[in-house]
Amino acid sequence: MNNQCVFCKIARKELPADITHEDEDFLAFLDINPVNRGHTLLIPKSHYANLYDLSDETISKMSVLMKKIAASVKRAAKADGINLIMNVEGAAGQIVPHAHFHIIPRFSNDGLRHWPGKPYANKEESAEMANAIRRIAYSQ
Ligand code: 5GP
Ligand code: ZN
Repeated sequence: MNNQCVFCKIARKELPADITHEDEDFLAFLDINPVNRGHTLLIPKSHYANLYDLSDETISKMSVLMKKIAASVKRAAKADGINLIMNVEGAAGQIVPHAHFHIIPRFSNDGLRHWPGKPYANKEESAEMANAIRRIAYSQ
């Protein structure tokens, strides 16, 4: 637990939240500033700064739970789809440094756009990138 962390405070019930799921290890609650109604945050109760600090066991359990919660959010919000997002580190938009998934109900007509794509210049550029990722992934 981290004394200053807003999500740790919610997990300790020192701050109020609209909780939709709680078990020994995880908590889900409504985002205070939702993209759409029903936007839910799923956190481990223990403080981990981001994805890289989560054990394989924690991320595995969290993913199974996220799937269940996504189905409930979709039905409750009468959504047409769901975005599952984890912002990892500040450059990716992570503001609260306590690992969390966003479960965001989406509607066909909600007007939100996805990130703009930037195509690779050529096949060599994409092949080089794929190579670099494979090299690092398999050298650990
Ligand atoms: P991040 O940008 O770190 O991925 O997202 C943090 C999310 O936490 C934001 O969507 C923000 O609205 C939400 N949030 C921040 N503080 C609180 C809070 O005190 N209560 C709740 N329910 N959500 C919060
Ligand atoms: Zn925390």
